[in-house]
Amino acid sequence: MTTHAAARPLENRRAIVTGASRGIGAAIAVAFAAAGARVLVNHAGSADDAAQVVGQIGGGDERVLCVQADVSREDEVEAMFERAVGAWGSVDIVVNNAGIQKDAAAHDMTLAEWQRVIDVNLTGSFLCARAAVREFRRRGTPAPGARTVGTILCVSSVHEIIPWAGHVNYAVTKAGVQMMVKTLAQEYAAERIRVVGIAPGAIKTSINRAAWETPRAAAALLKLIPYGRIGEPDDVARGAVWLASDDADYVTGTTLLVDGGMALYPAFRDGG
Ligand code: BGC
Repeated sequence: MTTHAAARPLENRRAIVTGASRGIGAAIAVAFAAAGARVLVNHAGSADDAAQVVGQIGGGDERVLCVQADVSREDEVEAMFERAVGAWGSVDIVVNNAGIQKDAAAHDMTLAEWQRVIDVNLTGSFLCARAAVREFRRRGTPAPGARTVGTILCVSSVHEIIPWAGHVNYAVTKAGVQMMVKTLAQEYAAERIRVVGIAPGAIKTSINRAAWETPRAAAALLKLIPYGRIGEPDDVARGAVWLASDDADYVTGTTLLVDGGMALYPAFRDGG
């Protein structure tokens, strides 16, 4: 038996990537397309950025779709899935990537700041996962050449493990996403539906610009990263391609950390 991974491990797969106009989502969308998948690029309102990602992927509706939808809104999520199924017949991979931060000390955090982060990061992931499971079950059999009936990949964070002062809303959503991955994986494994997570550490994107854009901030951040460099969106995208492909066919209910060792308690290198 060959141990070489296919050159285009996502050939014939139809993927929805939420929050794909920038950062990690954009990198995943482009990497999925390069791996052979058709990709729906979702965004919540950044049409220009999304159009750039679509242009980078290239090809017509057969290869790439662009859909504006707020993942926290049930009707918009349903319409997004209808668009993909209408164009391509079904969906095989859903990447729950859309996520936001609204940082504040807990004693200053407004209910609106708490709620919006829960709505996008957690409820949005649930709504898309539910729509995905419904579509996978409706189809019932894998796409030609595929082993799994469908894969849900949730983009979590090291903060599903690492507590994060000043970010309680964000951290609890990521802890929730981890348990959603495990619970849905347990619920649907018998139907050959895989549910997996990927947990990035500090990746250079707009969400954490303040943490890396000045040399001083970057030096402070690097103290938290044993591997000695800040991550790039492609670091996460490569892991995402693997997790979504049949190379990871026997992987479900688990989350892959892509964090340069950030979750390894680096403060203990010289202490404890
Ligand atoms: C957050 C970033 C942060 C990183 C490491 C991510 O989940 O979105 O803002 O830099 O975790 O702390």
